[in-house]
Amino acid sequence: MKKDLNVELNSLVASIQFDQWIMVLGAPRCTVVSHLDEDHDPFLTRNTPPIIINGKKLRSRPNINSALFYAVDPNIPAIYKGMVFWLTENIRNECQNIIKNFHADWWYIRSKNSGLLFIGDLYYPEIPVIPMVVKYIRAYHPLDTVLLPSYGGINPPAHSIPKGFRPTAMADAIAALALELKKEGIKVGGLPHPIPAPWSDFDFVRLPLSRKT
Ligand SMILES: [Zn+2]
Repeated sequence: MKKDLNVELNSLVASIQFDQWIMVLGAPRCTVVSHLDEDHDPFLTRNTPPIIINGKKLRSRPNINSALFYAVDPNIPAIYKGMVFWLTENIRNECQNIIKNFHADWWYIRSKNSGLLFIGDLYYPEIPVIPMVVKYIRAYHPLDTVLLPSYGGINPPAHSIPKGFRPTAMADAIAALALELKKEGIKVGGLPHPIPAPWSDFDFVRLPLSRKT
């Protein structure tokens, strides 16, 4: 773990399970869900996820014990255990009007003095929206870190990479963005999707999945 992380930020990141990821040595008190693709769904992990915080539209998913859910309306900050969870739908749409259907929900989560943006999955054309949203949030709120999928080690064909681009286009664009954010003093957390990102300021692991027999 890097030494210069401030304590409050570190504890914020450690307190949350992000889809199927947790910070190494973290002790999550809740799980926040970006979307329910198989490689993100916290109910498919071997552990029992702590209470799930999810966007309201995900709630219709069948076969899930809804008592565990805390469904959050988009754009209306919700408080859980001293943390604010804000599903940033309006901000994305105010920053641009090209992309209407994003791959996943983007969560801004803050404690008293620290904040993070969690992006669980992306389509390639969404990447330029990230710095816009970061700038927008930063004008009003603390934003110390952005959590991004690494896309290392895979060619994600379902992620709308333009034809003719290299198979590593997704990982390359995310790595370049991560370095840009770092230049602006923002820490970047690489979520292993599937392998860890060399640029990550935090160590995350993906929880093992339960095997269906
Ligand atoms: Zn996905």
